[in-house]
Amino acid sequence: MRDFSEDTSALVLNTATLGHNLDGYGAGWPVERVIDACAAHGFGGIVFWRREIGRRALEIGNRVRAAGLEVTGLCRTPYLVGSERSANWLDETRASIDMAAELGTSVLTVVTGGTEPGTKGTLETQKILADRLGKVVEYATERKVRLALEPLNPMFGGNRTCIMTVRDALNVCEMVDHDDLGIAIDVYHVWWDSDLHQSCASAGSRIVGFHLCDWLENTTDMLLDRGMMGDGVADLRAIRNAVESNGYSGPCEVEIFSREKWWRTDPDIVLSMIVERFRQFC
Ligand code: ZN
Repeated sequence: MRDFSEDTSALVLNTATLGHNLDGYGAGWPVERVIDACAAHGFGGIVFWRREIGRRALEIGNRVRAAGLEVTGLCRTPYLVGSERSANWLDETRASIDMAAELGTSVLTVVTGGTEPGTKGTLETQKILADRLGKVVEYATERKVRLALEPLNPMFGGNRTCIMTVRDALNVCEMVDHDDLGIAIDVYHVWWDSDLHQSCASAGSRIVGFHLCDWLENTTDMLLDRGMMGDGVADLRAIRNAVESNGYSGPCEVEIFSREKWWRTDPDIVLSMIVERFRQFC
């Protein structure tokens, strides 16, 4: 396992941590200010949400690199399955791949969407998902982008996801069977999974992303009460050990949706806290 006690080059900010993925939250810093602050605090990279980028993908990507950082990912595709899937999912997914390519990042996160109308459970939907991923993954390859399937905590089943474990994500990857379809592993979604070490070992080089936060003992909001690393009950080192067991050496992306705590805190303090906790607990 890598030693981060004196090294923050793998540390990445997902801008949702500053409230940037929802209207009306966070300090409202412009992208440029976020980039400069991340550079000043010693981060190695940034992951943006599509809503922040608009038509400025190339400009923002260049701005990040000029500050000495990398854009290590983009959040995210539209839902590919489920009742909340966009009617234009195919065009929208291709547009998100284009945006990732223009930003100069090689990873685009996929949140799948929930159970497909007319079906029950998740297995049938996973097959439909695999079929739809098969229709876009070659396009991603042409743009030098890898798709990262992110399994979500089972409480997000129904409307947001049809894959709830690394094992589920791996099954879908095996159905699609393409080198540019991988898996992003987020502490918030997998911390409870006693099969994690085995499933990560099976995933091997398919792991293309690792997301950090903590699971608070008394979570008050499923979506918007994630904890800062060290404040919760997730075994962060054991999870990273599982993720790195087969050679993952990529970014560690801090992604904390926290409406009542961290989104109400000065972003400079949030960034300092992330660096301190990353070195101490991750
Ligand atoms: Zn995540």
